[in-house]
Amino acid sequence: MAATAAASAAASLACRHDGHHSIFPSFSVHPPEPSRLFLSKALPKPYPFLCDNYPIAASSHRCMLPLTPHAALVDPSHAFLSADEDKPRDECGVVGIIGDPDAAQLCSLALHALQHRGQEGAGIVSSDGSSLHSATGLGLVSEVFSDPGTLAPLVGEASIGHVRYSTAGAASSLANVQPFVAGYRFGKLAVAHNGNLVNYRNLRSALESKGSIFNSSSDTEVILHLIATSSSRPLLARIVEACEALEGAYSLVFLTANKLFAVRDPHGFRPLVMGRRRPTGAIVFASETCALDLINAAFVREVNPGEVVVVDSRDMSITSLCLMPSKSRKACVFEHVYFALPNSVVFGHPVHSSRYSFGAALARESPAPSADIVIPVPDSGFFAALGFAEASGLPFRQGLIRSHYVGRTFIEPDKEGRNLAVKLKLAPVRGILEGKSVVVVDDSIVRGTTSSKIVQLIKTAGGAREVHMRIASPPIVGSCYYGVDTPSSEELISNRMDVEGVRQEIGCESLAFLSLESLRGVFADEAHMFCDACFTRDYPVPPRNQEIEQLVEV
Ligand code: SF4
Repeated sequence: MAATAAASAAASLACRHDGHHSIFPSFSVHPPEPSRLFLSKALPKPYPFLCDNYPIAASSHRCMLPLTPHAALVDPSHAFLSADEDKPRDECGVVGIIGDPDAAQLCSLALHALQHRGQEGAGIVSSDGSSLHSATGLGLVSEVFSDPGTLAPLVGEASIGHVRYSTAGAASSLANVQPFVAGYRFGKLAVAHNGNLVNYRNLRSALESKGSIFNSSSDTEVILHLIATSSSRPLLARIVEACEALEGAYSLVFLTANKLFAVRDPHGFRPLVMGRRRPTGAIVFASETCALDLINAAFVREVNPGEVVVVDSRDMSITSLCLMPSKSRKACVFEHVYFALPNSVVFGHPVHSSRYSFGAALARESPAPSADIVIPVPDSGFFAALGFAEASGLPFRQGLIRSHYVGRTFIEPDKEGRNLAVKLKLAPVRGILEGKSVVVVDDSIVRGTTSSKIVQLIKTAGGAREVHMRIASPPIVGSCYYGVDTPSSEELISNRMDVEGVRQEIGCESLAFLSLESLRGVFADEAHMFCDACFTRDYPVPPRNQEIEQLVEV
C-alpha cells in the first residue's frame, strides 16, 4: 500500500509539474521496492519539501573534495583554431547509461555523436556496483579513447560521460575535464554538467569561506561541494538541496555505485533526453537524440525542466521527482540555430526542420531577386540555405566545400591564424561561383571576422560577381550566461554597429538577418518557452558573476 501510494504521489507530482502537457505519456514511475522506501519516508511526504524553497543547512565541517583527475596543465600560450572560431561554442555534452554490460563502450560511442558540443576534453566514469572507475583526457573522444586499454578498466553496467569546451581564455587543463569524481562522507559520486551557473562565483566564495578547497576552475565543482556539505540524507535530498542553490543552466548526470541521476534546471535551458536501448532495456540519458540513435536507443522523452530522474541499477526502477517549483520554460533557441546536429530532435522540434523554416522565412522577408544561386556556409548553414532556395525559387548549389580533415588547427590564436583557419576549412568551387550573383546563407554572425573572410574567398578565389549574405538568425547583441561561450558584448559586431555597418565591414553587396518575429514564428505558440536573450538581452535569469567579480576586484 505504501509503495502504491508513493508511486501515485510521484505520478501526481509529475502531472502537477508541467501544466502544459501530460509529461509522462510513455513513462511509468515504478513503485519503490521495500529497500527503497527511504525515498517514501524521506522525500514523498516532503514532496512539498522538494518543491518548496528552503534554506541550505549550515555546515561547519571542512570539505576538501578529492577530485580526479588532478591538474595537469598544458601550454596555454597556443590554441586550436578552426573556421568555427567565430561561432558561439556550446560548452558541453553529457551522456548517462545504466543497465548495459557495455555501458562504457556505449558511452564512448554516444560521446562521439556529441563531439560537436565540445572538443577540448572527454571523459567517462563507470560503476561496477561498488566502485567508480574514471578515464579522462584532453582532445577529441577518438583521441582520448583511441587505445582500447583506456576503456578496459571502465567496467560495470553504468557509466556517465562528458565532452567539453573550455570557456574563452581558460587554459586547457585536465583538471577541468569531466566527469568529476568526488568522495564525500557516504561514498563516491561522479558528475557531468552541461550549462553554466550564473551565481558560481558567490557560491564558490561562500564555500571557500567555510573551508572548501577547489581543485578546478569549473563551476561544476561547486555542485559537488554543495552536495558534500549538505546535512540532508539521502543523496537525492542532497542533490535537490544543492540544485536549489544554483542559478542558471544545468543539465546534469550523477553516478554513484548503484544509481544514475539525471537533472535539468527549472528553466530547461540546455537539452537532456531519455531513451531506452534495444535489446538490453538500458536507460540512456544524453544531451541530444543523435547520441541515442547511434547506440540503438529509442527516444522516450525529455527530462523535464526542474525534474530529477533516478535509475537504480539493482532493480532498474525509475523514480521521477520535482526538483523545485516549475519556472517558465526557457529552452536555448541557439540549439536550433547552430549547436545541435540537424538529425537531432531538440526540445520537441526536429533541428533540420527548424533551420529549413528559418531559411524559408528569411527568403520571404529578405529576398535577393537578382541572385543566380543560393549556397550554404557548410555545415550549419545547409538546411537554412535549402529553405531559402526553395522558398525563393533559386537553384541551390554547393559553392563552398568544407574540409572535414583539417580538424582543429594548431596555430597561434591571432588574427592571421584565424584567416588561415578559414581558408583551410572552406574551399570555394570556382566552376559554380564564377561570374554569379550568389546568396550565401549562414546561421549567425558573431564577431564578423569569419564572414568577411568567406565573402573574400567567394569573390576572389571563387570569382563571384556579387555576394548577398543572408543570416538565418537575428543579430547577436548579447553574451550568453547559460553555458554557451560567446565573446563579450563589445566583441559582437551587431552590438557595435547596425546592419549597414556590418555589411560594409564584411564587404558584401547586401546583408539581411532573420527578424526576431520570424524566428519566434517558427515555434508559433511555443515561442515564449525559448530563451532568445543573445538576440534581445532579455535574460531569464539575471547574470550576476560580473557584479561579484567587480566586488572581488575592489
Ligand atoms: Fe541560448 Fe542565447 Fe539564451 Fe544563451 S542567451 S541560452 S545562447 S538563446
